[in-house]
Amino acid sequence: MKKFYIITKEDEESKNIEKEIKKILEDNCLEYTKKNPEIIICIGGDGTLLHAIHTFLPIIKQVSFIGIHTGTLGFLTDYTKEEYLECVSDILTKEYYFYKRRLLEIKMDDDVFYAVNEMRIENSKRTLDLDIHIDNSYFETCRGSGICLCTQLGSTAYNRSINGAVIDGDLELLQLNEIASIQHSRYRSLGSPFIMKENKKISFYSKDYRDSILCYDHLYKELTNETRIECCLSNIEINFCRFKEYSYFKRLKILYE
Ligand code: NAD
Repeated sequence: MKKFYIITKEDEESKNIEKEIKKILEDNCLEYTKKNPEIIICIGGDGTLLHAIHTFLPIIKQVSFIGIHTGTLGFLTDYTKEEYLECVSDILTKEYYFYKRRLLEIKMDDDVFYAVNEMRIENSKRTLDLDIHIDNSYFETCRGSGICLCTQLGSTAYNRSINGAVIDGDLELLQLNEIASIQHSRYRSLGSPFIMKENKKISFYSKDYRDSILCYDHLYKELTNETRIECCLSNIEINFCRFKEYSYFKRLKILYE
């Protein structure tokens, strides 16, 4: 028997769809459980899916995610609200395959954080000086409002808003992008997105993090002490449950059509 759980955005339309899906699946002998579900159905938007992934991080290996979008845009979600019955029917009758994506790992002091899309070190109050090393070699000192390090999946999210490149769905890469970096005769840094192989280790260091925050997807932590922040792609994977044919190019069109 398949076990499932539903995470829903707090709006009426999403809640109504949740009720219907829960009833149909339970009527078909699937068990609704938060403790050890196999499938997590996310009803809402990309943010709902991100929220679900972070909620289920402790048992991420056992679960797979499927998204239904109730808003206007959905990059991580495979079904629209009009297709929710198709989603239910697919869960009940079809075999699925996993679309796997590795999480970004962010280590700071004794803490470890994970991100689906990206990590950012941001400071909109004052200039942040960040020394960046890649695989223990000095890369650059970036002076500005911060940096964004994204995964392939996150390349269409915040990264895209700061003119980062969109990375094809078949490529597992990391992308480093400066946020409003200062470029003049005294300060210079690369100033353009830098795309790296998936096995690179990137570290960030600043003597002064006052007013800076470390963002990882929709979550954040205030930075205080002088510290080194180390990032790499972890071996922890997210399983997206996929039932139907998928074209990355078709999905990309929702970003500009
Ligand atoms: P949210 O759920 O409102 O998402 C913000 C926007 O980012 C939405 O339009 C969402 O559809 C889109 N988005 C999220 N992940 C995406 C992806 N992988 N590809 C394409 N679009 C994606 O906001 P939230 O829950 O606070 O933040 C979660 C994510 O939203 C962050 O990881 C960040 O990438 C993104 N975000 C983007 C901006 C920006 O583009 N200026 C600002 C804040 C947050």
